[in-house]
Amino acid sequence: MAQLTIALTKGRILEETLPLLAAAGIEPLESIHNSRKLTFETSSPEVRLLILRGVDVPTYVQFGAADVGVSGKDTLLEHGGHGYYEPLDLRIARCRLMTAGLVGQAPKAGRIKVATKYVNVAKRFYAEKGQQVDVIKLYGAMELAPVLQLADEIVDIVDTGNTLRANGLEPREVIAEVSSRLIVNKASMKLKHYQIEALMDAMESAVNEINSGT
Ligand code: AMP
Repeated sequence: MAQLTIALTKGRILEETLPLLAAAGIEPLESIHNSRKLTFETSSPEVRLLILRGVDVPTYVQFGAADVGVSGKDTLLEHGGHGYYEPLDLRIARCRLMTAGLVGQAPKAGRIKVATKYVNVAKRFYAEKGQQVDVIKLYGAMELAPVLQLADEIVDIVDTGNTLRANGLEPREVIAEVSSRLIVNKASMKLKHYQIEALMDAMESAVNEINSGT
């Protein structure tokens, strides 16, 4: 069988992806946690795992350096979705992409400043609303920006909302519901169809089983 390379997002998405891969008979041969290694052989001899930063997963899959990837919908929306299919919602790492601002502060009319790492998502969202914005790219700690008047609003992922509240912010509008998705390189889908189909079927069954009570 052909070699199959699967790119995974490290962190919380990885934790929730491993059980789904295990259901497809794919388990890393050594512990991924606390390892500095970036590639892992698995119990399935032809399958190799890459452990990447989330933003890099769609790029690896787009250019075929990985056949398959697991990536948050937030990351896919920001990346733009070129070069890969998105056949399966894994329903893990669920959260929302939202706008947020200072508690009690009415949304400003006219041109506003928006701080985010989701520059493309933010530009599209505000353009569709007809609101003019200056988008400021940040790589972390978005919540500080409105407090220090660097921006009027932020666009970020929100789960419980605790991080916003702890920093004097409140959620405003939902931009997208987020969960992790299986993505597949377009050429790989043709060339390794049998293997990828088997992987998708096994993961889909595991997703359905996990969510059957909900
Ligand atoms: P919370 O305080 O529960 O709203 O979580 C907020 C922070 O946790 C966000 O700013 C993210 O950095 C992180 N986070 C929450 N959910 C996810 C997720 N599904 N994937 C990645 N990061 C997340």
